[in-house]
Amino acid sequence: MTPRLIPPEAAPSLFQDLKVEPEEARSILRPQRDDQYGFGFSLSPYRGCGHGCRYCFVRGYPNALHGCGDWGQWVTPKLNAPELLWSQRHRLHQQSLFLSTATDPYQPIEREYRLTRACLNVLLGCPTCRVLIHTRSPLVIQDLDLLKRFGDRLSVGISIPTDDDTVRQVVEPKAPPIPSRWATVERLAKAGINVNVAATPLMAITDPTGFARRARESGVSNLWVGSLRLLKNDPFYDVLAGHCWLKVLDPDYVQGIREILEMALPAPRRKVVNAKRKAEKARQGCSSRNPSKPILLQPRQPGLFEGII
Ligand code: SF4
Repeated sequence: MTPRLIPPEAAPSLFQDLKVEPEEARSILRPQRDDQYGFGFSLSPYRGCGHGCRYCFVRGYPNALHGCGDWGQWVTPKLNAPELLWSQRHRLHQQSLFLSTATDPYQPIEREYRLTRACLNVLLGCPTCRVLIHTRSPLVIQDLDLLKRFGDRLSVGISIPTDDDTVRQVVEPKAPPIPSRWATVERLAKAGINVNVAATPLMAITDPTGFARRARESGVSNLWVGSLRLLKNDPFYDVLAGHCWLKVLDPDYVQGIREILEMALPAPRRKVVNAKRKAEKARQGCSSRNPSKPILLQPRQPGLFEGII
């Protein structure tokens, strides 16, 4: 339960440019404002994110603006996250939980602090709570032993916003390479974990049909496309313009990619997913807008689409 801590001065070179300022959080479960995605709560074991994606809209949030440096150069581990979650676990009965809306739960520092892992251990003891993890990192594999123990009530989303790692090097220079994310998808799927691939926020995809084929062959359960959200006067606009990538802001481009990727899921698999959703709705006798509705399969992910944070 108690996370393993390292003092910043003993941190490995991987973190040497990262300012680490641990804190004791006052709360850990964040209710979701909009129930259309079916998530009761989100949980972020860290503030800040060492991936520091250049488009990340979280950098404009108040708790990010109070960080100790530019976005991507600091991270604040919430040391008491597992204990807080333990004390609040009764709120998760028949709820869904998303890790994480405002950070990556498997950013590099998780390798040392293991706060996400400690939270997952708590969640294992909440048998009616559905869990969706979302990350860009193969580090999630280090918890494969725990993930398997959740069974069908857990799914893992992997962000793969482009098929071109040279694009990734521009927009997410500190995040793991695209090939390593596909390898992660395959490894998780082979282990029997429900895996979603999220092309979010959608960047330039040079071969959408090949992307879709890769997803299908990797064993993903579902594919999502989410469009980019720019902050007011966002400097990322100039990055897009400078690389002639402004098309990613065009709704027609996003819709075209979405249609190609959605066709990638074999019809039988979609039918099974839809049938299970219908059966669950009928069993509960509630509409999809009911906030107490636990979701069964591949929920859409808040924070990645219309900004439910
Ligand atoms: S991994 Fe997610 S939270 Fe972290 S910087 Fe990138 S978009 Fe933001």
